[in-house]
Amino acid sequence: MQTRIFCLLAVVGSIYALPRIESTPKVLPYEEARAKYGADDLDVVDYGDHHLFVAAVENEHQRKGLEELEQERNELDFWNPVFVSRNVSIRVPPALVDEVEKQLKKFHLSYTLATKNLQSWIQHEKEENRQQNLFLVGSDPARFALNQYHSYDEISAYLDAIASRYSDIATLNTIGSTYEGRQIKGLQIASGGGQKPVIWLDSGIHAREWIAPATSLYIINKLVTGAKTDATVKALLDAYDFHVYPLINPDGYERTWSGDRMWRKNRVRFQGYSCQGVDPNRNFGYAFGGPGTSGDVCSDIYRGPGPFSELESQAVRSGVQSLTGRIKMFQTIHSYSQLIMLPYGAGPRIQSAHYNDQLQVAQAGQRAISAYSGLHYQVGTVTQLLSPAAGGAADWAHEGANIKYAFAIELRDKGRFGFLLPASQIQAVGEEWYRATASMVNEISRKETGRTIFNENSFPRGGTGGSQTPQPPPVPQWPPIWG
Ligand SMILES: [Zn+2]
Repeated sequence: MQTRIFCLLAVVGSIYALPRIESTPKVLPYEEARAKYGADDLDVVDYGDHHLFVAAVENEHQRKGLEELEQERNELDFWNPVFVSRNVSIRVPPALVDEVEKQLKKFHLSYTLATKNLQSWIQHEKEENRQQNLFLVGSDPARFALNQYHSYDEISAYLDAIASRYSDIATLNTIGSTYEGRQIKGLQIASGGGQKPVIWLDSGIHAREWIAPATSLYIINKLVTGAKTDATVKALLDAYDFHVYPLINPDGYERTWSGDRMWRKNRVRFQGYSCQGVDPNRNFGYAFGGPGTSGDVCSDIYRGPGPFSELESQAVRSGVQSLTGRIKMFQTIHSYSQLIMLPYGAGPRIQSAHYNDQLQVAQAGQRAISAYSGLHYQVGTVTQLLSPAAGGAADWAHEGANIKYAFAIELRDKGRFGFLLPASQIQAVGEEWYRATASMVNEISRKETGRTIFNENSFPRGGTGGSQTPQPPPVPQWPPIWG
């Protein structure tokens, strides 16, 4: 049984799980699930006394040692893959703290105890986000606090309000609904009727990666408020339409607000299983069932009963297919680790025939971030930068939907806070990723039409470009960090 939990990927070489012959779990209808388990979904999971260790993996011997520990102990929550020359963050329940420390010492790993009470971080986050969540249906979207994290209802109301306030350029699209009945909504932002080539952004397919939807909302705001006044935004919208889906997995996201901050998957229930949830980012129909996925319903990388069995992956497929031939770039945005990743996460080929072009576009994004905030985002294929992960959205977008430029993104940070990135960083991350996306679009334009659409020197330097431009953040110091 595997319960590893990385963001995009995972299980470090352990399960090269080709599809097995196993009884296929059948979905329990939601009404029955509610009657049977309704109260469980309101349980508050307390992470008090859970420790978060951050260890620096310096050599292969150490990597193997941690990998073994991970395989032996399902209760450990590895937040990112164990990789030489990177840090790995491990959430450790109180009963295993001694054992884990013993192992860290045995393998001579240098490590930091980030907190011995993860719940205190979660509590802090709650307080940080309590103050300004006053946005109500129908209110002015300008009152929406972009420097806060928001619940599903607030995000949903914000999208409605944007579509209403900016009806000349923003159109609400609903591409599906979920097991628990929430709508999967997004916005088309188009300045000329909506027939241009498309830039697709989605986020929030993994529930606990809160910075990803917050970043999509920041970009939406940037596009609608700058459409008439910001030269770069105007140039982007003159050439492309944007389709932005901030929250692909609203059921899982809602659970991270209602009581289990560390939840990752969707919330589907199966007949005869007490564990619930499929990882929708293992459920797409390319290389389904391959490495870096699990057939165990209890696993955090459970791939689901079949390709596209899940409403969330179906929604992405349907949204993408409704734009056939028009999508120039597909980004699926996650956190964390600061990576811009190219196909593939699995399958017969290690890199696309378009690898060189993809790499140059990703590098344009990397340079934009470096110029803005001084932070380094690594560029490479999913398999190079993390580990195999089959059935992911970006691989399918590239192979199944024939989109040349398909990327999987991991935003900040590199493990200092991990999934609990403070709200005070939202605007800087939003600006960082907006600039990266704009520069990637510029590079695609250069490749396809021979000309760029805006001058990158026109980006205001952080902090000097007026009130809309957040200060670049200080680079967080957190020993030991690489790259
Ligand atoms: Zn993720």
